Amino acid sequence: MNQGLVAREMLDWEFLESYLRQRDAHFAVHWEWITEVRHKLEANAGLDRGAVTDDVARMSERIERLRYQLLQERSDPDAADYQAAEVLDSLFAILTDRETTTPRHLQQLLEDDTFAVEAIKSLEWCLNPDVPLDTVITSAWRLTKEHFGANLPDQGAESASWPIFLYAPLYLSSYCVNHCLYCGFRFPETTPRRLLSADEAVEQVGLLVGRGMRHILLVAGDYPQKTDIDYYVETITAIRRRWPVSLAVEIAPQSTAGYRSLVKAGVIGVTLYQETYDRSLYRTYHIRGPKAHYAWRLEGLERAAEAGMRRLGLGILLGLGDPVSDARAMVRHAYYLKERFPDRRIAFSLPRIHEGPEGFQIPNPVNDETLIRLYCGLRHAMPGAELVLSTREMPQLRDLLAATCITQLSAGSSTVPGGYDEMGTHFGDEHDGQFRVVDRRSVNDVIAVLKSQGHAIIWQPRE
Ligand code: SF4
Repeated sequence: MNQGLVAREMLDWEFLESYLRQRDAHFAVHWEWITEVRHKLEANAGLDRGAVTDDVARMSERIERLRYQLLQERSDPDAADYQAAEVLDSLFAILTDRETTTPRHLQQLLEDDTFAVEAIKSLEWCLNPDVPLDTVITSAWRLTKEHFGANLPDQGAESASWPIFLYAPLYLSSYCVNHCLYCGFRFPETTPRRLLSADEAVEQVGLLVGRGMRHILLVAGDYPQKTDIDYYVETITAIRRRWPVSLAVEIAPQSTAGYRSLVKAGVIGVTLYQETYDRSLYRTYHIRGPKAHYAWRLEGLERAAEAGMRRLGLGILLGLGDPVSDARAMVRHAYYLKERFPDRRIAFSLPRIHEGPEGFQIPNPVNDETLIRLYCGLRHAMPGAELVLSTREMPQLRDLLAATCITQLSAGSSTVPGGYDEMGTHFGDEHDGQFRVVDRRSVNDVIAVLKSQGHAIIWQPRE
């Protein structure tokens, strides 16, 4: 069946009208312009496959915003809420000529025990304390070698390992309007704040290129007045004009149109951690600011993929929720994305809170063994996924994980905007960085260890 028709079949106008009439405080205003969209659609059958005009772009953004507004207002959505969200998403799919016309349904799927059953089982096998840790590690090592070791450029079948992709984060801004209870950057903490100009960012990337880096992850807090989409596009364009690097972003979730602008500017990947998938815990830790919006964040990677982003990085912040439930939900999220966007590369990260701002007690501390089991579990659950490890962890633990299942590693990182210098000595700490860099070895020292483990180093992401 024609994909446009599939989406059109989801357009139950009658249901939408009655739902909004009952549950939307601004029904009259919203229904007026939705009716206008409907008339335009009916008057112009070609709209669903046609060019995106300014008019259509404006309508689609309004629809997207309304859908999220409704989802956010319903703290515990019921079947009618989800149905209304699906109708609005189908309308959005038609207006934007979207490839995936079945409505977004990640939230419902996270609660579906029948989805990705085998993957979840293999995750749980790794987390079972009755299975010896060595057995889990050896099995994860085999799987990683099998899935990532095949195309080594200059190593034979006997090579001990697989190529590891090295990258560097570049913090563009430490301004943030959110109030995440566990973060030292939260508003209104009086931490020193800084925003890099495009020129400063270009200079910082130059220092990283000098260390061999060819892939940069641009990181920023959430401060819409300073780090809006125009700021990112300008900075990214300036960097790409000067340096031969590939770029990904770890920034606040954007609208589909916002992600489209980033893709157009040359960004290839988005990292967006859900922190915890537990909706009620999420509310507890994210009390103010745009990040309090669970559904907007949850569907961020899907919007990015719809906009054409190639690499999708998922993560949970260990220490917040129950790590096993969160890992299960993250695996379901990944399989959902993989089903809808089979050609995209999925990556998992497991950042762990080691310390929070004054007065913050880590609610569910995760020990080293559980962290190792979780990484091995993700390798088993989705063997072809990149597993990413940052410099938050101790060198010994990083080396063990790199020898076991990690495929993507940062090194020599600074978590301070403008933190890279010629000497490579400013890493950021609890006073000015978002988190404390624990592995402070130089890029060369990390490379030496990786090579001694039999890894080749690659500087560009795998296709
Ligand atoms: S975790 Fe991110 S969004 Fe939350 S306060 Fe810190 S920088 Fe801002």
